[in-house]
Amino acid sequence: MTEKTRLRFAPSPTGPLHIGGLRTALFNYLYAKKTNGELVLRIEDTDLARKVDKSQEHIEQSLAWAGINFDESSSKGGQSGPYNQSERREIYKGYVEKLIETGWAYYAFDKKEKLDFHRADHEKRGKKFIYNAHNRLKLDNSLSMSDEEIKKRIDKERFVIRFKTPDQQEVGFKDIIRGEMVVSTRDIDDKILLKSDGMPTYHLANVVDDYKMGITHVIRGEEWLPSLALHVLLYRAFGWNEPIFAHLPLILKPTGKGKLSKRDGHKFGFPVYAKNWKDEKIYAGFDESGFLPEALVNYMAFLGWSPKDDKEIYSMNELISDFSLEKINKGGAKFDPAKLLWINSQHIQALDLMELVKICSNKNQEIPKEKLHDFIRLIQPRMDSVVGLKNKFYYLFDAPEINEEACQKMINDEIKKSINSFIVMLKEKETNDSSEIKSLIQDSAEKNSAKLGKVMAFCRLSIVGKMEGPDVSQMMAFIGFEETVCRLKKALS
Ligand code: GLU
Repeated sequence: MTEKTRLRFAPSPTGPLHIGGLRTALFNYLYAKKTNGELVLRIEDTDLARKVDKSQEHIEQSLAWAGINFDESSSKGGQSGPYNQSERREIYKGYVEKLIETGWAYYAFDKKEKLDFHRADHEKRGKKFIYNAHNRLKLDNSLSMSDEEIKKRIDKERFVIRFKTPDQQEVGFKDIIRGEMVVSTRDIDDKILLKSDGMPTYHLANVVDDYKMGITHVIRGEEWLPSLALHVLLYRAFGWNEPIFAHLPLILKPTGKGKLSKRDGHKFGFPVYAKNWKDEKIYAGFDESGFLPEALVNYMAFLGWSPKDDKEIYSMNELISDFSLEKINKGGAKFDPAKLLWINSQHIQALDLMELVKICSNKNQEIPKEKLHDFIRLIQPRMDSVVGLKNKFYYLFDAPEINEEACQKMINDEIKKSINSFIVMLKEKETNDSSEIKSLIQDSAEKNSAKLGKVMAFCRLSIVGKMEGPDVSQMMAFIGFEETVCRLKKALS
């Protein structure tokens, strides 16, 4: 029997969850589901200085909104908890002590000023200061001290614990997306594992937890690729098997140049967060901007992954069934807001009417409840967002400004007569039935030898104020015969 796959999404609560993090979560989810595995949500909150209030809440709400569900998390519980790293300090301490015992780690007492000096001095000479085998014996650490001296110093001084990177080794490892890689330990720092506040660093906590939580596949952003050699060394130092790694490509700005940053949303005028984020300002989320979660999920799947054929509209279940890690590209994926909007429109149009009405009802409070159903039925084929509907289709509620010039250009005697006779018939019939309205327009055009297309166009201009919008007779039925008559008369005059 092969072992069950276990994946994790491990965000740091340093702010709102943005599309990059959400995409990482999605790929983990898709792969976990695809392989009938399990997905863990682990909060990497050991960096107290960078921890942001309400961030964990935002992360959890965003994931739930997107339909990315976890088998284990701090709110759901599970056998590998606690799931917040800040509650696992003792675990990391135990493991770092093991590394000290086996000679894979050591205490370091170097003062910040001293290290800053070395860094600046190297920089001046066009070099990079690396703390490892080539110089560690000249620095202030336990490697050249007696046990007694070490004990004395750790009792009264601030210290960190560093990893003892092996000297002059070529570390080989593999990433599913990028293939085999080799890194020389000459270029790897003796990274800090335990900080002076007793908290583990990301590297230690991440590796220990992936091991303790039985994680089989680590799928995460490309920005962690430079840490991979160190992580692999840590696994080997502990004597543990490494999980399978897959580092996802960067998400690029719409211009294709550079990584999509949190600030780009504001700059280019589109959301980068799943849900609104408030600090001094409100940063719009995809949810509040009218995107359906299934559309965002569909779009995000294409940020790095490409399916076998050219199918573009996917449900979550279809994504699960077609997804594969081998089909993820190495190259950066350009974020294309126009494509996302198109995918959103496709998902909106595929929705069951009742469901769409339900979604729009909460998000469009300004539309009278009794009108909502007919309104949505009318505009569904034209919707690309589920918010701001009254604004976009204002002419279905309030008379538009009449475009005099366009009216004058369009009108002739036959059209004038047709519209007038339509008005008479409509007043007589008092109907709000679109097919009845349609035949009245047809009759009036025919009787007055006007071209039906031209009469319809004039009606559209009268109702909408411009040449767009849903079917003319359906719009008339929606605004009602009295309002229709009013707008037609106004346009005629
Ligand atoms: N806490 C890291 C982050 O927020 C996790 C990286 C990883 O998945 O290993 O990006």
